Amino acid sequence: MHLIDCLDVHNTSMGKITQLRKPIRRKYGTGKFWKQTVPKPPQLSTIPRSYSRYGIAPQVFIEELKKVQRPAAILVTSLMTYWYPGVFEAIQLVKDIHPDVPVILGGIYATLCTGHARSNSHADFVIPSPGQFRPMELYQLIDKIIPDFPIKEKLEPFSPYPAFDLLTKIDYVCLLSSSGCPLRCPYCASPYLSPLFFRREPLELFEEVLFWHRDYDIIDFAFYDDALLADSVNHIGVFLEGVLESNLALRFHCPNGLHITYIDRDIANLLYKTGFKMIRLGLETSDTKLNRDLGRKFSEGEFDRSVTHLKKAGFTTYQIGAYVLVGLPGQTYDQVAETITYVGRVGATPYLSEYSPIPHTKMWKEAVQVSRFDLGSEPLFHNNTIFPCWNADAFKEVSKLKKMAQDTRKEARKNLPQALHL
Ligand code: SF4
Repeated sequence: MHLIDCLDVHNTSMGKITQLRKPIRRKYGTGKFWKQTVPKPPQLSTIPRSYSRYGIAPQVFIEELKKVQRPAAILVTSLMTYWYPGVFEAIQLVKDIHPDVPVILGGIYATLCTGHARSNSHADFVIPSPGQFRPMELYQLIDKIIPDFPIKEKLEPFSPYPAFDLLTKIDYVCLLSSSGCPLRCPYCASPYLSPLFFRREPLELFEEVLFWHRDYDIIDFAFYDDALLADSVNHIGVFLEGVLESNLALRFHCPNGLHITYIDRDIANLLYKTGFKMIRLGLETSDTKLNRDLGRKFSEGEFDRSVTHLKKAGFTTYQIGAYVLVGLPGQTYDQVAETITYVGRVGATPYLSEYSPIPHTKMWKEAVQVSRFDLGSEPLFHNNTIFPCWNADAFKEVSKLKKMAQDTRKEARKNLPQALHL
């Protein structure tokens, strides 16, 4: 089995082959990626921004592909819908180097835009959402293509562990304690991508953490759950109590926003004591009506209360980030500005999160109606950085909003102990 990570920041050939600047890496495995400005697709020619490829350069990818002696099959994954040009380019290069090898495309883009992927990607097979819960579909296909492929593992969700050991270097390990989310926010693809809310046994999760820590010296673990704190008393709380008892010096991260409504005193204390470094809360908006339209993820006063619990547990203002949605259909600049001010007033730090219209979400129809682009025919227009559901003046206004959020963050950073600087 061979893995090529196209976002590999440790690839040694990149420095030798390209003139690109080495990406800046920060603490806990965060930081920048290799980046190269490339010609804009014609569909985006009117957008006043540059267009870049992130990750290893094509010549390095080709070099990596040549290291693999005629593979039996090549699996390509995909993420955001509007990143499909990179996926297509990768498939093209794969076919140039290994012309007779079947290519299977899966992942998020392949799931959300299956028709587009089947018509345009040139993959031999497109499998929408095998995910953690439908590995059978993928395995049956592999079995057909490679009859003697040794699939002996038990086919269960989260088993076997992801093959991080095939990476050049493991800086941190991504974890899932659950899949899916009990909520159904209208802008979110989680209900479509992972329709069932499924949780792992806390002990099983702990064993996975022990495995990576013991065998690979991993200290940093990033949770990518959609609903990490749901029913924490019976789930993640049990895991975190185990971490506390073990006395292992681990660090945890939660780049996906946590649910405000699930933060109480006990879980705030556990998060702090077990080594969570940066908390991210999914606030989205402080506007009462918009919050209701977005599914009312939290009630009035709950954000203030959750920030208070986190502060009492020991987190500083800078460590408590709140995601603020920008660019929703019908949302005004003022609503965003007021939310940024509100976050600072309550004692947290705002992070703008640009809205990307996603097929199969409840909000998709409205997004298609209000957008200045033809979202339905071209996934490039789902790109959040072009603010597809706001008018063309958005770029200027959003710069002001970004500045506001940055200033609030700078202020919060002033009192941050040096040890917590990223
Ligand atoms: S709470 Fe978060 S993960 Fe769940 S549906 Fe809403 S946005 Fe998606």
